[in-house]
Amino acid sequence: MTTNDSIQVSVLGLGAMGSALAGALVKTGYATTVWNRSPGKADDLVAQGAKVAATAGDAVRAGQLVIVCLLDHASVHEVLDPLSNELAGRTLINVTTTSPAQSRELAAWVAHAGGAYLDGGIMAVPHMIGRPEASILYSGSADVFHQYKPLLDLWGTSTYFGEDAGLASLYDLALLAGMYVMFAGFLHGAAMVAPAGVTAGEFATMATPWLTAMTGAFQGFAAVIDGGDYTVEGQQSLEFSDLGDLLAASSAQGISTEVVAMVQRLIQRQIDAGHGEEGFARIIESIKQAT
Ligand code: NDP
Repeated sequence: MTTNDSIQVSVLGLGAMGSALAGALVKTGYATTVWNRSPGKADDLVAQGAKVAATAGDAVRAGQLVIVCLLDHASVHEVLDPLSNELAGRTLINVTTTSPAQSRELAAWVAHAGGAYLDGGIMAVPHMIGRPEASILYSGSADVFHQYKPLLDLWGTSTYFGEDAGLASLYDLALLAGMYVMFAGFLHGAAMVAPAGVTAGEFATMATPWLTAMTGAFQGFAAVIDGGDYTVEGQQSLEFSDLGDLLAASSAQGISTEVVAMVQRLIQRQIDAGHGEEGFARIIESIKQAT
């Protein structure tokens, strides 16, 4: 375990997220060096006690622990590739959003350079950093995660998934997939009622408690899926879940049916395969098969 007065930490990237992460470190008394491609973004942090490095190389050399929070995978390589000789013996924690394959590639690249690597996926917006609601997912080196956990916990709730550096990103993107489809569902509903003179705000007032309550179904679906038996009593059947009325009402409102039709297709494939009396969770079988 490492304490904040015995560790030199550098943060590369002072965008909205990098600044929030660096700010939490400086506030807690970590000796923090910051670097950003464009000048001027370090001023507030310097006023709070951070040191600013003139180059990314200076920042890397100043830190035994290097936090990377840049735009994307390409920008991470653009910054770090010229510095591969500086990474031996250092630890890199990369919280830039990357795909699982990109995270694994970077982990292997850092290992080849002689460094230790932990990948992070941030499930939060910058103003949440420093609060337990900010969830940050990690995978890669278990030693790094455990050594620096007190520091990571400053940012939010830290969860470690294992040595495969791609796992944090996989969870991150899977959670975002759920979020975006839910957002599309809400927006479809808002578009449906709009021709009736209902504002999106009025619809949101109704949708928020409804959708919040419906998330209570996740664990029930999960129990059926993990149990491997979609015929368990007490489930809403696929035939009962026919979305024909939703499609017809959407068309009657003059709006696109794409969002609802996507779900209807997943249902229909299972009905066509003879599973109409089984539970709604069975549509995961449609999703698991790439078409
Ligand atoms: P910003 O757009 O605010 O900042 C991007 C940062 O990357 C800036 O410091 C920018 O430098 C730097 N950058 C971009 N391209 C290059 C490059 N080629 N070379 C060097 N530096 C470069 O993004 P955020 O801070 O919001 O996001 C950073 C990461 O955090 C992203 O991967 C994002 O997906 C992730 N994240 C962000 C969340 C958010 O809500 N903001 C939520 C969850 C994850 P410069 O100032 O010079 O342009």
